[in-house]
Amino acid sequence: MKILLNNTSLLESLRPFNDIGFVPTMGGIHKGHLSLINKSNKLCKKTIVSIFVNPKQFNNKKDLKSYPRNIKKDLKILRKIKKIDFVYLPKFNDIYKNKNKPKIKLPKKDKILCAKFRKGHFEGVLDVMNRLTKIVNPKKIFMGEKDFQQLYLVKKLLERKYETKVIPCKTIRNKKNVALSSRNSLLNKSNLNIAANIYKNLEKIKKNINNEKNISRFLKSKKKELINNFKIKIDYLELRDDKSLKISRTNKNSRLFIAYYLNNVRLIDNL
Ligand code: AMP
Repeated sequence: MKILLNNTSLLESLRPFNDIGFVPTMGGIHKGHLSLINKSNKLCKKTIVSIFVNPKQFNNKKDLKSYPRNIKKDLKILRKIKKIDFVYLPKFNDIYKNKNKPKIKLPKKDKILCAKFRKGHFEGVLDVMNRLTKIVNPKKIFMGEKDFQQLYLVKKLLERKYETKVIPCKTIRNKKNVALSSRNSLLNKSNLNIAANIYKNLEKIKKNINNEKNISRFLKSKKKELINNFKIKIDYLELRDDKSLKISRTNKNSRLFIAYYLNNVRLIDNL
């Protein structure tokens, strides 16, 4: 596993290869990330993982400050799995020194779900993914369905601009079905139990949706119930089409999306 600390060493190391699988991360490596790495290993000759906490996608300074960072621990985990060819640890300037990049804007129809509640977040994500793709020039990029809207927006942008393919990977969960996330390290046991309970409720809600005539009214009342029962703040609870992300009137080809706060930590999930 070769560690690449800047763009010069990255360009030199990757030059001989043209079948590169890329797994971009912000660190806090967990089994969700490892599943992306496994898929890349299966589908590509070489795998590169990046760890970069991108300040431009944080719409909240406190969130950026408290975001879990532990490069030493991450490298230890990555070394152990013995399947990674390169780890890219860029500095801010490696990514952002090119100031000529056009500012990325989200069209109005995409300002839904997290885009509505985290102003500027996806503009930051798309900008960094555009820059990383240009630098790494991968054949395939592996991204998790846990961040479904991110996957949807990044895939749409990158596959239009580059030859690269964005490959969706299933959400990995713990034993109690809580989606793995680097942010889970900011939760205590009781928070994680609540998250597991919320997941159970979401499963029930999803199952019952088809019996409902007015889905939006049903979800509104379920959202209130969740808020009251678990004393949580919920940004959204919405059923959306899994291809267009438009509001859905049926369970078919649809996902139930939620964003909520536990212990001031914002969690997202979809099922
Ligand atoms: P992050 O480090 O949180 O920015 O995530 C890096 C990549 O890992 C993104 O493509 C995420 O969607 C993906 N990812 C994060 N958590 C999970 C999970 N529980 N299951 C599958 N993929 C995940």
